[in-house]
Amino acid sequence: PAATEAEIFKSLNKAQCLAVSSEAPTVAILAGPGSGKTHTLTSRVAWLIDNVGIQPCDVIVATFTVKASNEMRTRIGKALGDGREKKIILGTFHSIARRYLSAYGQRIGLDPKFGIADDSDSRGIITRICKRLSAPIEPPVARAWISKRKARGTSDERSIKAKNGQNVESQALEQCFQEYQSHLDRSNLLDYDDLLVRCVELLRKFPHCVSNIQTVLIDEYQDTNGVQYDLMKLFAQQNRRITVVGDPDQSIYGWRSAEIRNLHRLLHDFPGTDEISLEENYRSSSSILDTSLKVIQQDQDRYKKVLLPVHVKGTRPVLRKLKSSTEEAAWVVSEIKRIRLLSGNMVEFDDIAILLRSASLSRHIESALGREGVAYRMVGGFKFYERVEIKIILDYMRVIHQPDNNDAFARIINVPKRGIGDTTVKSLLEEAERGSLSLWTLLEKHCRGVRNTKTNIRKQTEQKISGELIRLIGNLRRRLRSSDGTPINLVEIIQQLLRDLQFEKYLEDTYGPEYESRWANVQEFVNLAEEFMHQGQLEEELLPIIDNVQQVPDNDLLARFLSNVALASDKQTQDQEDKPQVTVSTIHAAKGLEWPVVFIPAVYKGSIPHIRADDQNEERRLLYVAMTRAKALLYLSSPLYTANGGGGCCQLSPFIEDLTSVFLQKGPSFDRPVMSQVARILRRVLPSEEVIYKGMPMMAAPEDNLFPIDPNKPQEVSTVVDHRPDQNGGPRKRQKLQHPQKG
Ligand code: ATP
Ligand code: MG
Repeated sequence: PAATEAEIFKSLNKAQCLAVSSEAPTVAILAGPGSGKTHTLTSRVAWLIDNVGIQPCDVIVATFTVKASNEMRTRIGKALGDGREKKIILGTFHSIARRYLSAYGQRIGLDPKFGIADDSDSRGIITRICKRLSAPIEPPVARAWISKRKARGTSDERSIKAKNGQNVESQALEQCFQEYQSHLDRSNLLDYDDLLVRCVELLRKFPHCVSNIQTVLIDEYQDTNGVQYDLMKLFAQQNRRITVVGDPDQSIYGWRSAEIRNLHRLLHDFPGTDEISLEENYRSSSSILDTSLKVIQQDQDRYKKVLLPVHVKGTRPVLRKLKSSTEEAAWVVSEIKRIRLLSGNMVEFDDIAILLRSASLSRHIESALGREGVAYRMVGGFKFYERVEIKIILDYMRVIHQPDNNDAFARIINVPKRGIGDTTVKSLLEEAERGSLSLWTLLEKHCRGVRNTKTNIRKQTEQKISGELIRLIGNLRRRLRSSDGTPINLVEIIQQLLRDLQFEKYLEDTYGPEYESRWANVQEFVNLAEEFMHQGQLEEELLPIIDNVQQVPDNDLLARFLSNVALASDKQTQDQEDKPQVTVSTIHAAKGLEWPVVFIPAVYKGSIPHIRADDQNEERRLLYVAMTRAKALLYLSSPLYTANGGGGCCQLSPFIEDLTSVFLQKGPSFDRPVMSQVARILRRVLPSEEVIYKGMPMMAAPEDNLFPIDPNKPQEVSTVVDHRPDQNGGPRKRQKLQHPQKG
């Protein structure tokens, strides 16, 4: 352990060391971006396990995204070095709650085969209910209201219900809520909020489910909501040992009921909390940090903190206005290529991120990157799992897992086309309801000849259903039960499904030439399933056996895959083996992460602050989060005119309007000094001048358009050694560099 201890403390400053080894029961670290909160939290977990001797399976760590939890587990693994990190109960609040509910949920009457209704399922169900009730409310309003109602936990004394009085709208909301909930119950589904709410219920009634837990640690604490706060307290009920880290300036989930005041509640509920602040920013160049602080300081009511740069000044952030979104996207991509070129590829594609206020802005960027052949990955909010072709496959898999899931079943009954019209589906659903059966059971009965004369399904249709659908699903369901207890082969099941459905042909028939990209998505989905299988047991799924009652073993691979999909904000691929790619992400999904180079396009009024956002301060914090992701180079840009919103002129975002003097308006001139500053901040070695300039025109070019790359000209390829040390300290393997031909 001593060796690990030295190892752990080596990478920490004094305040961080104090936080890691604090013996206070409750520790709260509130500090600005890049001050090492996550790093400190990770180190504390390793320290508690290695030095205090807490068992890994007695530690709960909650992070905000799946990606963050994977990263954290890897980091802790490096510090511990013996695989014990696998036993830590580490994940998002939702995934931790799901694990507890899978293991012990039966005690509160939960069917262990419960499915998860993701956002789009919930939306669909609520929309149908609103329609049926002819309720005077918009489905999104109802959805938000229901979610708020569930998410506030015990924090809100004012009961929304009591406040309602008799007005028509609130009655409708209440009714919608009741119907929605009973629909979920009937279908054995839990929505995201339910996962948390039911877990709270479980732990209140059966506190000994968490009697082993010694300590609870939470990252991004500023974005927890009321019910998560309750859950945190319940997890820690054994000995009230809690560590939270967060930054109120980065609270960006108010729209999802996150409550900044959870901080005050913590201090109130846990007197004697050790409050520690970290005041050095290890991430960004000092000019990036200064500019970001100028943005957040516009908020007068914020909780003020000290945040000092440790890095050199670096080059000032760039603000650039371009005619249209198309030109803006083209500029971003050309700038990316220029940075790579002029740094002699010291800056890789995966060092670069493009952060967007909303997913809908991605169109121009995606096509510009595609046009220039720059590899990129999309992260967060781009709804891979909501693409039509993926939803169909997922719905089939849900039915295979849970045949009684009527929602999923009704969606696929006529996909691909089986000549079953909406009317037939409707009358089938009605018949099912009359007999208190699920659609699946009803149709299975029909197939076995147990006919109900009241339904007039045409003979042919019936054959279609029985001949194809029921048999197909039945066959695949049989493959789920391996006789010898070996895990099922998820990928084979999906491949079989695709063959049985003739899915490629179906896509081609339905979408024409466009089908190829959809089929590529399906292939990507198969890859994800394969990764999920091979990634093996990143976490050991069994929670401790309580009361000698056998818990339901969580070895249902399909169930785990489906809940993994439902709980991932978006698809997560293992990045390691991929070739370097530019990241295109929503700002929300970029929280907690960092890149050497960050582009923030579309900083105009209407985009950020977003036209539909209620809370201007939250929008400002969002921009602050985006800007503070950058280490060495930061670019903001905006089109002058936009096609959306009436095609008018764009006004620069009010958050940076008054700051234009702190930006470089055109772009940094990438001379040697700029690049060596970048190298210094990134702790990298800049390739020698001869290497960079080999084959480049030596004359000075106009600042803004240093070495234009002509795609039509043949490119000379030369090979150099990349001097950056790899993980083992040795130089990286040789890479091919491309330079424009000598002019
Ligand atoms: P955010 O608020 O954005 O989540 P954070 O406070 O969690 O930021 P980290 O991501 O933990 O910050 O750290 C930011 C960067 O600083 C990381 O690259 C981390 O490795 C580095 N870092 C943290 N502490 C130190 C230190 N004491 N010495 C050197 N580098 C550090
Ligand atoms: Mg962090």
